[in-house]
Amino acid sequence: MKRIILTLLAGGASIMLHAQESNKWEGKFEQLQQLLPTPNEYRSASGSPGPKYWQQRADYIIDAELDENKNILTGKETITYTNNAPESLTFLWLQLDQNINKKNNEDFGDVYGTMTDSLSGLRAQYLTRALDFEAGYTIKSVTDKTGKSLPTTVNNTMMRVDLPTAIKPGETYSFLIEWSYVITDRSLFILSREGYEHFPDDNNNVYLIAHWFPRMCVFNDTEGWQNKQFQRLGEFALEFGNYKVNITVPADHIVASTGSLLNGKDVLTATELQRFEKAKTSFDKPMMIVTEAEAVAKEKTKSTAKKTWKFQADNVRDFALASSRKFMWDAQAVKLPTNTVLAMSFYPKEGLPVWSEESTKAVKNALEVYSKYSFDYPYPVAISVNTSNIGMEFPMISFNGGRPVEGKITDAKKKSMISTIVHEVGHNFFPMIVSSDERQWFWMDEGLNTFLEDMTKEQRYGWDLSVKEIVPYMKGDKNIMKPVMSTADNVELRQIGNNAYNKPGAALYILRETVMGPELFDKAFKEYATKWMYKHPNPADFFRTMEDASAVDLDWFWRGWFYTTDHVDIAVDEVKWFKLKTQQTDLENKNKTVKSGDLMGSSSNQNTSDFSNGPQEFTVTDTPDNLYGEFRSKVNDNAIRQKLENKNIYQVKFKNIGGLVMPLVIEWTYKDGSKEIERIPAEIWRTNEKEFTKVFVKDKEVSNILLDPNFELADTEMENNTFPKKPQESKFDQFKKGK
Ligand SMILES: [Zn+2]
Repeated sequence: MKRIILTLLAGGASIMLHAQESNKWEGKFEQLQQLLPTPNEYRSASGSPGPKYWQQRADYIIDAELDENKNILTGKETITYTNNAPESLTFLWLQLDQNINKKNNEDFGDVYGTMTDSLSGLRAQYLTRALDFEAGYTIKSVTDKTGKSLPTTVNNTMMRVDLPTAIKPGETYSFLIEWSYVITDRSLFILSREGYEHFPDDNNNVYLIAHWFPRMCVFNDTEGWQNKQFQRLGEFALEFGNYKVNITVPADHIVASTGSLLNGKDVLTATELQRFEKAKTSFDKPMMIVTEAEAVAKEKTKSTAKKTWKFQADNVRDFALASSRKFMWDAQAVKLPTNTVLAMSFYPKEGLPVWSEESTKAVKNALEVYSKYSFDYPYPVAISVNTSNIGMEFPMISFNGGRPVEGKITDAKKKSMISTIVHEVGHNFFPMIVSSDERQWFWMDEGLNTFLEDMTKEQRYGWDLSVKEIVPYMKGDKNIMKPVMSTADNVELRQIGNNAYNKPGAALYILRETVMGPELFDKAFKEYATKWMYKHPNPADFFRTMEDASAVDLDWFWRGWFYTTDHVDIAVDEVKWFKLKTQQTDLENKNKTVKSGDLMGSSSNQNTSDFSNGPQEFTVTDTPDNLYGEFRSKVNDNAIRQKLENKNIYQVKFKNIGGLVMPLVIEWTYKDGSKEIERIPAEIWRTNEKEFTKVFVKDKEVSNILLDPNFELADTEMENNTFPKKPQESKFDQFKKGK
């Protein structure tokens, strides 16, 4: 309980108000039912897809050509849309993400910061777009299979296509779109997930082609059309389907892409093809398919001829690729219990040497660890492409930042690069396969993915992980914090990392290690991942599955960690030490009468800040008959006395200051120096969310009590976790020290 003293000075009179902070019950252990959607035939109460679960399907055939002189991508696509919804559709919505790059479409708050007295040219560009450039789609045509034009309406990053006749449930409809857009320079944006990167030294580009073709919006049972505008932060919601993509690029480019390469013999040299085939059985280390010397030679010659690379990808929710003559290429086979995957990396020489040493290895590590905790990675390839900055994921391929400077990279930068690769490859599982709605729920893919990223780094790189890192955020300014359960675009850019990645990541880590235990957690987590493969889960489906598969009531956990901005701060508030008075010394109490209320106990007023006063003595009296009520059997008072003789009994009062209810991890240190860890489930708080008192019986004398000794709980204030209280330095002491 915190006391807030308000001093109001009005007309010379001083009024003092003692306002006690609300101690009212907040229902922290109440079930989430009021907050979660009512289960139905589409999504069941167990967190599973219901018996009538449905989702739409979108298959694509795309022909596109990259013009590297004008930086224009031109394409023609056939979309075959299958309506599995129980209702007819009279129009369709498609995502035109490239339109976000049009001037004046970048309306997303303070992502770019504010003006200052002095600012770099680059930041001035971010803020003002002083150097203007062309961007956004030119939609040449939208037609049905017979070539008849279909009416369209473009609303910023969304396009509505009106249909001549409704698509009935179970029907399939095919239509064509011809489009082009100017590929933008990635360096001109903060959040550029795609675009080209220019290398002035050799005058070549690396093209990262993503969000490049008009893509079907998701239509589902919870939102209808998910056509919330793309505002750059909130990511994507996409339907599954099969893709056939033919991409025409300069003949000396190497293309890294979602899917399997269908025409290696047409686009690779005989040597490259031979190495590529050999890499498929190279399980111990990556094989070079395009070497540094070969890539560097092409940087100078620059072919003007063209080649068409043909790819096929089945059961994916998106398709991305990267193209450059600068690419080196290595590959290694990874054996999973039910699939063999080709892990590959593509990078310009500027990524050497760290990229050839670490990238494909990181892909392999991610595939193996993620597969263990969810499901075997099901696709044929997993690719990491080197970029200048940030990381971005797509099915089977990711663009990953982290590059040495003149061949040298600091340990911190190398760690961050490996982290990025593990993370982005990990996104294949969440959300590329367990396909949550990223535009609505940032954490559903980022949080789950950060958790498994950390598991990978702990298990494969031995990096020490601590939930302690989330502490500064958790105890931060609650006025600007938002619960994890917030719409992706409504969270500030600066808070995104903690809100959508680190906090849910730490929460899951704590859930596994401290709340549920690995056995129950892993089973439930795998259950969730497996049953939502290639489907669209919602938060409730995750929350419900984790409980359904484990028999652990976690509503309090989801409520606290996902729906509030509370933090963990549990204090050891008061400790009392008792010892039984031996019978010989207790003659005077022998005939004392005991009131019938004694079964519930009453406390004495011992109050100390350490154990120096010694134990308080207590007696166990003979139980009077009236306490037994109708019972005829009686306890053996003497036996109880004997059992308690010489025991140290500690009564500890715990206070919940931060608001998040959590299990207790208590470290008892005994006078002989030995230690014991005791765990108490979070349910201890269920009747009183603010404080509780518990009695512990110990054989040995305790010299110290410490809560959360190994920082498992992300407790934000360790000073109040101990007894005896550590003497706090007075202001005067600090002043003296300072001198
Ligand atoms: Zn991510």
